[in-house]
Amino acid sequence: LTRLYSPLTALASARMDVMSALVSFERVFEILDLTPLIREIPDAKPVPDGPVAVEVRDVGFAYPSADKVSLASLEEVAVLDSRGGETVLHDVSFRVEPGEMVALVGSSGAGKSTIAQLIPRLYDVDTGAVLLSDTDVRTLTADSIRETVGLVTQDGHLFHDTVRGNLLLARPEATEEQVWDALRRARLDELIRSLPSGLDTVVGERGYRLSGGERQRLTIARLLLAQPRVVILDEATAHLDSTSEAAVQEALTEALAGRTSVVIAHRLSTIRAADQILVVEAGRIVERGGHQELLAAGGRYAELYRTQFADSGPKSSANAPILQA
Ligand code: ADP
Ligand code: MG
Repeated sequence: LTRLYSPLTALASARMDVMSALVSFERVFEILDLTPLIREIPDAKPVPDGPVAVEVRDVGFAYPSADKVSLASLEEVAVLDSRGGETVLHDVSFRVEPGEMVALVGSSGAGKSTIAQLIPRLYDVDTGAVLLSDTDVRTLTADSIRETVGLVTQDGHLFHDTVRGNLLLARPEATEEQVWDALRRARLDELIRSLPSGLDTVVGERGYRLSGGERQRLTIARLLLAQPRVVILDEATAHLDSTSEAAVQEALTEALAGRTSVVIAHRLSTIRAADQILVVEAGRIVERGGHQELLAAGGRYAELYRTQFADSGPKSSANAPILQA
């Protein structure tokens, strides 16, 4: 570990991808995938049973900066990022009732992914609070948060483990049949079947190299298997080619049905289906409402809509361009 800490200046300016070349691989990726900065309080409780409302209340947030972080633990080293320190979210508030879908839209760098990461408490907020079922996530157990909130990101984080291991993580008691069913619905069954070791093929950083789209579909399979009560999709189909995209979109729609969900920068069809659209700009929610309402208001949403969807008529909305990458 001492070796890890010594090139301090280098670390402070390094991004994670560079650092991953320097440090113990699985360990850091495990930490990144799981819970970078979470400290569970001694009497943490599980997320309450039943349908889950998600609330983000007056949240202000800055990524931990290198100089703020004491190098006391590997976890903290893992989140160093030269961009840290500046406030990226200001007074963000919204509530998603059980079973509702909220769509976040806005230009790149606005803060959408950051909001997505705060919901399963990958970071702690600086001001305000994130609540699941009206309970501050800082008082909940990390395990129960992970079980309750399924997060699918663009990168599709995998563990250095077998395909089976990656899937069972979400639901250890799943049967072989359920595992294959999830793979089939994520349109990944044929590929996995074609691998020499099938479900026992090791994937992840030093394992079998899956493409971006394949990794993503594996995390979608994990979501389908786990059936979490809350689903967060962050540009979840951005890496897929259009054939698998349409198929996976179907699987995702199925996975979202009846669940509390927050969907980022998705297809126009998804955004239209949302109960509420939030327009995020420079770390603030600048507009909120339904699709028609926001279009009529002629503000930022209308502008995004015009610039992103000018060429996509209603009939081609399934293949409409991504609102914002
Ligand atoms: P969006 O998803 O809307 O494109 P992000 O939430 O990814 O926006 O980014 C919001 C802001 O936070 C940007 O200024 C971005 O550079 C910054 N940012 C994102 N991730 C990190 C990180 N890990 N460390 C420091 N700053 C970050
Ligand atoms: Mg993003």
